[in-house]
Parts: sequence; structure tokens; C-alpha cells
Amino acid sequence: MKVLKFGGTSVGSVKNMLHVKEVVDDGQPKVVVLSAMSGTTNMLIAIADSIQYSETNKAIESINRLHETYSETIEGLLINQSLSIKAKAYVNEVFNFLLQSTYKSYSHLLRNEILAQGELLSTFLFTCLLEQENIKVALLPALDFMRIDKTKEPDFFYIKKHLQALMETKSRSDIYITQGFICLDENGQVSNLQRGGSDYTATLIGAAINAKEVQIWTDIDGMHNNDPRYVEYTSPISNLSYDEAAELAYFGAKILHPQTVTPVRQDSIPVRLKNTMCPEAYGTLIDANAFESGIKAIAAKDNITAIKIKSARMLQAHGFLKKVFDVFETYETAIDMITTSEVAVSLTIDDDSSLDMIVKELEKFAVIEVDKNQSIVCLVGHSIVHHEDTFKLFQVLKDVKIRMISYGGSNNNISLLVPTSEKVTTLKNLQRYVFKLVS
Ligand code: ADP
Ligand code: ASP
Ligand code: MG
Repeated sequence: MKVLKFGGTSVGSVKNMLHVKEVVDDGQPKVVVLSAMSGTTNMLIAIADSIQYSETNKAIESINRLHETYSETIEGLLINQSLSIKAKAYVNEVFNFLLQSTYKSYSHLLRNEILAQGELLSTFLFTCLLEQENIKVALLPALDFMRIDKTKEPDFFYIKKHLQALMETKSRSDIYITQGFICLDENGQVSNLQRGGSDYTATLIGAAINAKEVQIWTDIDGMHNNDPRYVEYTSPISNLSYDEAAELAYFGAKILHPQTVTPVRQDSIPVRLKNTMCPEAYGTLIDANAFESGIKAIAAKDNITAIKIKSARMLQAHGFLKKVFDVFETYETAIDMITTSEVAVSLTIDDDSSLDMIVKELEKFAVIEVDKNQSIVCLVGHSIVHHEDTFKLFQVLKDVKIRMISYGGSNNNISLLVPTSEKVTTLKNLQRYVFKLVS
């Protein structure tokens, strides 16, 4: 069985939902994972924000506007009278819940319950659409099987056991539909897999049912060799290894949630990235066989904080780095890049929620400098450190002030730290130097 995930744009309009219906209706059994219609999650976040800051009128206005969009979607999608009535009743229920939420006192749980409505709506409407076409379809509520534990990691055994049991109860269906993104936490309360988390839902399901393949259907023809939001003339990459895809996703290639390949790499389940608007395009295949060497792609991750830790006592002293790392360990903060000299260590973090405490601890034994608003620009490929063309990337040193370079930590990744204001220039120039092979 295959797992097909469709993102926000793919289900973002009646026209696009009809495209998705064409793709999934091929007579093969499958699990279909859907995101919320594009714009919905952002809107739900804005509603939760308004409730948090007691801006009740603003929240109600947004809820009514969103309700209208869904009423229009039902009009365009469902001609069958009874399905249209069923869909309207469900949508009314959701929007009544949202309206009632404006009178509740704000909590993190309320926010998560509000955010969950986007995927609940899209899957309900899409199920009605397939029912209208007489397709044997079953809606699997993600909250009945998707769960994270107290470390916020997926509880894989729970997921596998409950998903398999649920599918057995609906074994006469051709297409199973479920919500991406949403899950329960360790206390059984509504939570989610973070922004973009539907990709992660898809591969978790893929691993749980030992799928033949996981397909991520989106609005672009696969992973491009640079960020198409900032750079012109990027092109799709046909094949990536799990390692390459994982690095690109972690370092900012928005097309994939950072954890997407984690569940499937161990069982070598292939992941295919496809374009819903152009299904004939090859896209990108991520599997264990992609080993051509050289730089394959460039990505960038924002909101990075650089911390310089300077101490004269570091000179020839052992144990200094351990002391530094212990501080980050205490505050459960992951370090991305690190460079050292005789008297200083520079490192980067992307989660700065404990920054003040970390700095306070470090100041007990070193002088600390903090630079916010940095970006990691990451070049990824197989064996790139040894590749004969790799030197070309260093031409970028003449264009931008690079704060840190990490080269040789692995053969597959070279990372540059630049101020975020220089990110686009860095990406554009690297594109010229690396892929147009300017010597
Ligand atoms: P979906 O809603 O389908 O999950 P996303 O917006 O999360 O879609 O991801 C697709 C978008 O990712 C593309 O439209 C593109 O702008 C962006 N993107 C960023 N980096 C890359 C890249 N290297 N290759 C392809 N797309 C990328
Ligand atoms: N709807 C969620 C988001 O916008 C999850 C997803 O699209 O993958 O982040
Ligand atoms: Mg996404």
C-alpha cells in the first residue's frame, strides 16, 4: 500500500481538490494524508492569538470570514444534496466551536484544539467528495492513533498498534483518508507535529504500515537545488539519499518538515516528492541509492543565534568544551554549528527560549557575545568536501561577510553562517558559482 500526502495548496481550492481526486482515484488502495486548505492554519493561529490577547471582535471577524470560505468550498465541491447537507452541518459544528472558544479562557490546549480544525475540515470535505464519486472511502481520525510522548517525539509503537487496528475495522475501503499534523500528547490532549507536520504524519504512517512508498504531493516539481522563494533558475533534483534529504529539510528546505525522512529511512521506504498541478513531472525520489557526488542543493535556515564564548583560560586547557556543552545540555538546547580557536568557541542555536539562562551560566567562566538574526546556509551532497568543484563555493567569500564556516564535520555538508540580511545575496551568488560552474 502507498501513502500519499497532499499539502495546503493541493487541497486549497475546489479546482485543486478535484486534481487530487484524479490523482488518488486510480483503483489502487492507499492512505491519503491531507493538510489544511492553504491559509487556514495561519488564520487559525491568528484567531488563537486574538483570543489570547482578548481581542474578541477581531477573532469573531476572522472566524466568520473563514466560515464563508468553507461555505463557498462546499457549494463548489458537492452537488449531491445529502452530502452537501452533511458537510454544511459538520462545518457549522466546527465554526460554532471556534465561536464558543472566543468566550473561553485562553490556554495552550485551546490553541491546539483551534489549530486542529484545519485538517479536520479538509479531510471531512474531501471524504464527502470521494463519497460523491462512489469511491469506497474511510475516514481515519488521526486523533485515534497519532500520538507523541512526553519528549514530544512520536510514540511509534502506539501509532502502529492503533493505526493497524483502526484500518482492520475498515478493511473494505479502497482509500483511507486521515489528517496530517494533528496528534494527541502523552496526556491524551490535542497537540500537533509543528508547522508543516503533515509530511511527518505521512512518513510515520508509511513506517507503521510498512508502505511500499510515501508520496509527498505539493505545489512544486520536487526538491530544487536552491530555495525557489529567493533564487531564480533553480531546478529539481531527481534523486536524493535519505541523508541528503534529511540535511536539506533540517536546514530550511521548506518543502519537507525537518523530521520527514526519520521514520522511513531504517526500512528503506522510498519517499517521492510530486507536483499536484503537474503529475507527469518526475519530481524527486528519496531512497538509499542516490550516491552521485558533488553539491546537490543549497538551503537556508533563519532565526539562528550565534554565541561566542571567549576565555583566556581556554588556552591549552582540557575540559573547557565539556563545561560549555554541559550548559547547553542542562537547558536541552541543540547546537547546530561549532567552530573553535585557541581562545574562543563560536556556536549556533536555533531554539533561543533558554538563551538568557544559558548566557548567565556561561558568563560564570567566559566572556559572551551574542549575535541574533543569523542564517545558516547549508550546501548538501554526497562526498562534497572532496569534490573537485567544491572550491567554487568559496568565491562567495568576496561577496558576503561570513561569520562562521563548518567544513569537514561530515563529507556531505558544508555550512556557512551569515547575517540574515545577507542570506539572499549568499544564496544567489552560490547558485551562480556552484551550479553555473563559474570558475
Ligand atoms: P505544502 O503546503 O504542500 O506542504 P510547502 O509550502 O510546505 O507545501 O512546501 C512547498 C514549498 O517549499 C514550495 O512552494 C517552495 O516555495 C518551498 N521550498 C523551499 N525550498 C525548496 C526547495 N529546495 N525545493 C522545493 N521547494 C522549496
Ligand atoms: N496545516 C499545517 C501547517 O500549515 C500542517 C501542514 O501543512 O503540514 O503547518
Ligand atoms: Mg509543507
